[in-house]
Amino acid sequence: MKDAIAVLNAGSSSLKFSVFDVAGGALELCVRGQAEALSTSPRFAAKDASGVVLDEKAWGEGATVGHAGALDHLVAFLRRRLSDRRLTGIGHRVVHGGPEFAAPLRVDRGVLDALDKYVPLAPLHQPHNLAPIRLLAERLPQVPQVACFDTAFHRRQPPVAQAFALPKAITDRGVLRYGFHGLSYEYVAGALSSVDAKAAAGKTVVLHLGNGSSMCAIDAGQSVASTMGFTAVDGLPMGTRCGSLDPGVVLWLMDEMKMDARAIEKLVYQQSGLLGVSGVSSDMRTLEASDAPGAKAAIDLYVYRIGRELGSLAAALGGLDAIVFTAGIGENSRLVRERVCRDAAWLGVELDADANRRHATRLSTPGSRTAAYVIPTNEELMIASHTRHVLASGRAKDVA
Ligand code: ADP
Repeated sequence: MKDAIAVLNAGSSSLKFSVFDVAGGALELCVRGQAEALSTSPRFAAKDASGVVLDEKAWGEGATVGHAGALDHLVAFLRRRLSDRRLTGIGHRVVHGGPEFAAPLRVDRGVLDALDKYVPLAPLHQPHNLAPIRLLAERLPQVPQVACFDTAFHRRQPPVAQAFALPKAITDRGVLRYGFHGLSYEYVAGALSSVDAKAAAGKTVVLHLGNGSSMCAIDAGQSVASTMGFTAVDGLPMGTRCGSLDPGVVLWLMDEMKMDARAIEKLVYQQSGLLGVSGVSSDMRTLEASDAPGAKAAIDLYVYRIGRELGSLAAALGGLDAIVFTAGIGENSRLVRERVCRDAAWLGVELDADANRRHATRLSTPGSRTAAYVIPTNEELMIASHTRHVLASGRAKDVA
């Protein structure tokens, strides 16, 4: 019987999953899929590593399956489909590990209680990340579960990079810059070693440009600064999030527009960014194809803010050997990559336009003082890898 590790990434209306075979020292993807639109028009699909559909189900418009129903369907599918495999662990993407958790760890009831404390720090993500862990502890109590945090990779940043200039009494309550997308950065930093070992040992900025977008300064594999802060709304403009905002704007919204915290939350998380500026879409593909002036303004602002943050992160590093693009926009948008690289000419980036058109791994010319690469991210593999290591190490605790 083969050993396998499952990975879950639960969002507000979706549940993404993958299963990896443990093949000697390697992890090989065997199944991936998702349950989506869980409270509007739920659908489930699972495919094998080559994309062949293994299972599909649609519950129909208006059905409410919820996370619990989707998880039950997933567990039944895994039992049926992977009866020749032993599930040795389940790894979860958990957005917030707070100040306490700087590494992945096996979850027991005490850890779950501790992670519940961080719900106010990531109210739109953390509850959805934790719910499946509780459900699976009931459904599959014999299978150990591991939490992998988006914040962990950044927890060893220098204190000055984590601090806000707020009174100590507030900082002491955990109001710090945490940074997110850590699993993606960790994966890309590791993968860079086989692409450019010198840059991986030096100073790089990774640009994770997706619906959620952020950038991270990495020195010899270690995160030293990132654009996201206390929450995942800080830093770059994103699909629907505004990114960095003068806190004076929030006060103005409260005083002049009489908006309360929930209304402001909706504004800055769901109605801003590319969507808010363009008035057209949160999706970069749609914006690139649009003639609307708002679409151009949104892309201009996105690229401009990336350029500003790149300068800031290069300053935090004290130099720059390479930039690396990843995630949906970073891996696919020739336009955004070209404009970002051209704006970064002053930092020594010389774009090879043809390489960019071909989506080559190296986007910069051979003579470029600072290299530019595209490295597709793989957060699922990172979680599976952490899960395997945590379970193999003494960090394991018994499931509650
Ligand atoms: P998430 O944060 O949801 O994981 P992704 O990493 O999947 O997001 O990125 C989604 C973004 O990538 C969308 O804005 C989408 O338009 C963009 N994208 C995907 N493919 C392309 C493409 N070929 N050209 C431009 N943008 C693309």
